[in-house]
Amino acid sequence: MAECPDLGLDAMNTVVEHLSNLICIPSPSSISNQPIIDYALQVLNDAQWTSRELTYNDAAGVEKVNLIAAPPNQSLDNVPIDLAFLCHTDTVPYTGWPMALEPFISEGMLHGCGACDVKGFLACLLTAITENSLSNYIDGVRLILTADEEIGCVGAAHLISSGLVRAKRVVVGEPTSLHPARAGKGYCLAEITVFGEEAHSAHPQKGKSAIFRAARLITAIEKYSLALAEEQNPLFSPNFTTLNIGTIQGGTAKNIVPGQCKFQLEWRPIPGQSADVIPVAVLKIIDTLQSVDPSFRCDLKIIRQQTGFESAAKSQLVRSVEALTGRPATSIPFGSEASILASVAEEVIVFGPGDMRTAHSSRECVPLTELDEAVCCLRTLMTKR
Ligand SMILES: [Zn+2]
Repeated sequence: MAECPDLGLDAMNTVVEHLSNLICIPSPSSISNQPIIDYALQVLNDAQWTSRELTYNDAAGVEKVNLIAAPPNQSLDNVPIDLAFLCHTDTVPYTGWPMALEPFISEGMLHGCGACDVKGFLACLLTAITENSLSNYIDGVRLILTADEEIGCVGAAHLISSGLVRAKRVVVGEPTSLHPARAGKGYCLAEITVFGEEAHSAHPQKGKSAIFRAARLITAIEKYSLALAEEQNPLFSPNFTTLNIGTIQGGTAKNIVPGQCKFQLEWRPIPGQSADVIPVAVLKIIDTLQSVDPSFRCDLKIIRQQTGFESAAKSQLVRSVEALTGRPATSIPFGSEASILASVAEEVIVFGPGDMRTAHSSRECVPLTELDEAVCCLRTLMTKR
């Protein structure tokens, strides 16, 4: 039985208003997130929170902002933090989605880009803050807003390196249908370039085919991937580290022995498994191929290496959100900032209204009842001693 009753009509109107306003502000990762930060700052300032903006320039030179805020009468300089609520401020791009920035309500759902990923959670946080009396907060509460989650948790990584977010407990906002998600797989990506030697295809013996070489390497990686099923974590389905080769490019013309072939290798490690396991195995395979063909040459470039996370089933945060929502803990099949936060926090959960299966699409929406429940749950966590 959930401990959170329905909110009054005022709070419901507030969360719908915040979410609708946030959806109207364009915020794909390619542009500055300052307008979303400014919107949140307005609410925080009105509620007498203090905040600090931490800026950085992204790879394209666009200025991005992370923000840390503390309730009235709490110092931002005090770390470790007891309980942080973390929310990213960017969305995926929405070209070809005509109503993306025009929120509307239909059959109990609020629709629009970011409705569940993850402006819904942000609207709930801002409402919980608006609805709270000033002196009610537990010590060490923080609101943390990040940039560039959708392009590889770049903002969160900047934030960690600032040293300002060592925390006991962190709630990372992502749509989990209000289940506390206490575990998630990691996300890793590498680019592998196999080199050959070009030649006229009428004389293939004069060259070395990069595509034939890549095929041998890929076949060996596929065979290796079957062994990954041996190490299991029952919280996931599939319950082991998965691996995928999602793209491949090679060669320049049908009558040229190809000189280069490049492919992307993605893997999602179960919590507790080092993100190095796959690259180490692939390098071993490459060694074996080189022992047969000494001129075999290949580069492995790591693009992302994010481990999984897992908080104990009996941890305080998991237990309290289970009690507040009446929903059992679960795991998430998608990547999130929780993996990064787990390196500086004792307990991390992912939590938020809506279902990720509608996100990143024109079907994106969030149930109004879940917004209502989430506000109550967040407000209770911020204030319950
Ligand atoms: Zn998200």
